[in-house]
Amino acid sequence: MKNFTYNAQPARVVFGAGSLAKLGAEIELLGARRALVLSTPEQRASAERIADLLGPKAAGVFDRAVMHVPIETAREARELARKLDADCAVAVGGGSTTGLGKAIALESGLPILAIPTTYAGSEVTPIYGITEGGLKKTGRDLKVLPRVVIYDPELTLTLPVGLSVTSGINAIAHAAEGLYSVEGNPVMDLMAEEGIRAIGRALPGIRANPQDIEARSDALYGAWLCGIVLGNVGMALHHKLCHTLGGTFNLPHAETHTVVLPHALAYNAEAAPQAMRRIAAALGGQNAAQAVYDLAKASGAPVALRDIGMKAQDVDKACDIALQNQYPNPRPLERAAIRQLLQDAFEGKRPA
Ligand code: NAD
Repeated sequence: MKNFTYNAQPARVVFGAGSLAKLGAEIELLGARRALVLSTPEQRASAERIADLLGPKAAGVFDRAVMHVPIETAREARELARKLDADCAVAVGGGSTTGLGKAIALESGLPILAIPTTYAGSEVTPIYGITEGGLKKTGRDLKVLPRVVIYDPELTLTLPVGLSVTSGINAIAHAAEGLYSVEGNPVMDLMAEEGIRAIGRALPGIRANPQDIEARSDALYGAWLCGIVLGNVGMALHHKLCHTLGGTFNLPHAETHTVVLPHALAYNAEAAPQAMRRIAAALGGQNAAQAVYDLAKASGAPVALRDIGMKAQDVDKACDIALQNQYPNPRPLERAAIRQLLQDAFEGKRPA
């Protein structure tokens, strides 16, 4: 066995259908009294429901979370929290809302309680992203790690099937890259394989019946495990490519991960055979890249970058940006092969 370093990251997790009812008690356990509830405009109703549930423990609702966390929004929310005398924030939503909570915590130290409603996994990572002057800055700081996470699958019943599938495969991407990370360790490998297995078994059930609470529970359980992997070990080529495509060409986050993952795995296949065996086994297939592609396709997800807004003339630029900085990856970064990977992802080819 290779040598490794393992960091357990502090966070309390409360899991299960109906666990939202424990929110008030969890706020008390945190030693807090008044929570500012955060959401996107689309999830305002959920935020209000939570504020009602909290009664006097709710300081107010801030419903302006958006993708990429503009610094101005984070400052406004932080200022509102101060004005309302809030001593914690409750972030209900996906990665965008959790991200707003993290941006508030980064400067104010306000404890965050996250209630995730997608499978993005941000709630268990110390990674933050803030956009200032058009540039997204990312960093790691334990201050932004939510102190408590309440996973209540009932809140995911409204997540549209399309977003459920792409968000689930976004989670699989964290675990898949964790399995070949240079910082990998046996504990993360266990979580990664189990996380992929849980999501792989959940997605067909969600597609058949979005109200299937068992399938929703499996998916959220998998998302938690995959999120822990993302927060503990460094990611590689796949995340770098998706960051480039999302940031430079404004492609949608979860869909981009879904399209690129099979091709990033095919690129790394020969350099990381053990990781590939574990991914394939978790998805019940023979070949990791094909198993992810087939799961996406069978679940009705997009498989081609050209179908989610990428232009043919941007493929070369994406390749240039992806090669700008060196970063750890099982297979060295080779221009011709990365260009081909992007072309295959652009066209939506099934990996050979
Ligand atoms: P999102 O948070 O942007 O949500 C997408 C849309 O779905 C929003 O309109 C949201 O309100 C809606 N939605 C969420 N849950 C819903 C539900 N249960 N029912 C109905 N509608 C619902 O999407 P996301 O994919 O969760 O997050 C993407 C963002 O998170 C990206 O900016 C990404 O960079 C970031 N992210 C960060 C980390 C990290 O560790 N820092 C990890 C993963 C993702």
